[in-house]
Amino acid sequence: MNLEQTDKAFVLSTYARNYTNFVEGMGATLYDENGRDYIDFASGIAVNSVGHANKILTEAIHEQSKKIIHISNLQVIEPQAKLAEKMVTLSGYDMSVFFGNSGAEANEGAIKIARKYGETKFKNKRYKVITLEHSFHGRTITTVKATGQDSFHTPNFSPYPDGFSYVKSIADIYTAIDNETVAVLIELVQGEGGVEPFAKAEIQELALFLKTEEILLIVDEVQTGVYRTGEFLASNLYEIEPDIVTLAKGLGGGVPIGAVMTSHKDIFAPGDHGSTFGGNYLSSAAGLAVLGILSEHYDTGGLHETMIYFEEKVKGILEKYTELFEKEVGLGLMRGLRAKDAETVSAILDRSMQEGVIVLRAGRNTVRFLPSLTITKGEIDEGFNRFEKALISL
Ligand SMILES: *Cc1c(COP(=O)(O)O)cnc(C)c1O
Repeated sequence: MNLEQTDKAFVLSTYARNYTNFVEGMGATLYDENGRDYIDFASGIAVNSVGHANKILTEAIHEQSKKIIHISNLQVIEPQAKLAEKMVTLSGYDMSVFFGNSGAEANEGAIKIARKYGETKFKNKRYKVITLEHSFHGRTITTVKATGQDSFHTPNFSPYPDGFSYVKSIADIYTAIDNETVAVLIELVQGEGGVEPFAKAEIQELALFLKTEEILLIVDEVQTGVYRTGEFLASNLYEIEPDIVTLAKGLGGGVPIGAVMTSHKDIFAPGDHGSTFGGNYLSSAAGLAVLGILSEHYDTGGLHETMIYFEEKVKGILEKYTELFEKEVGLGLMRGLRAKDAETVSAILDRSMQEGVIVLRAGRNTVRFLPSLTITKGEIDEGFNRFEKALISL
């Protein structure tokens, strides 16, 4: 059997997979088994925040793995405590952190905090969570239900937990609130939904209103967090103070880790929540290395420069290929080009891969770019050269 046959025979087919076999990476460049190189504008869907084979990250993982990979959360874990401290410091919020292993698990934790808050802080039980259409919050039964896309709520997996409702826009949240509403869960830039950022003023107004109503604002920063939009959190960029923030994708640079941060430190008591692997030595050491690399990249202005450079390139493409694209969307290194239709995006994704540049789809008709935050100008230039070749060949 060749690799594709083995995969099809033994791995459950939940993905429409591409079968290019990557065997090595360096920075934002990937190499397949034939030694062909590809510019990686996807970074494992915003996960490889510091690129492939980053020396500082691989050393940190290697050094930690020689000592302890895992004990349990019944023992104190030094790198976990340090990672939590670093995250809280970088956020500027007065929060504490719980560690899990993924974005969905982080959002599960957030919903559990909200539910207990709603159960214990008010005379009546508050349990309802409002989310937005086109959102994406994960693949567990609860986070699928929290995701505001009908196609996710198939009867195949029903019944789903109660208490979730969806609104079309931020403005519609106000009328959807009732006296059983406990939280509003939103992304500030809907990653899977089309890379469209919400307006800052609208979000600030919402945050203020929810605070006066004692309704929790949960910001799902699984994709936008860890400097993706230019600040440590998109919430920092929007200058709001959420009650709960969830993180995952870019935090471990590829090592699975998820986190829920909250200013409501008194909600969870011992026994309320847990995770066997969450924040173990290995993933916390990776997270610490990633935040070390990225906070320095931020402080030196390198990250900001990269973001401007990348944005200019995307804008250049939009100006040149008006017959293919309607507009440019996104923030920081979370960028998209809204194409005329879904078929155009499919064709662009295929042709890009053939030309040696990896890009993603978002929503129906957006070509999405999520490069590593440490991508070089040379890699950006080469990636867009290849991307243009793909567009010309359509
Ligand atoms: C990817 C993503 C998730 C789910 O994360 P997993 O690690 O796949 O569970 C949740 N929310 C947002 C905004 C995401 O982008």
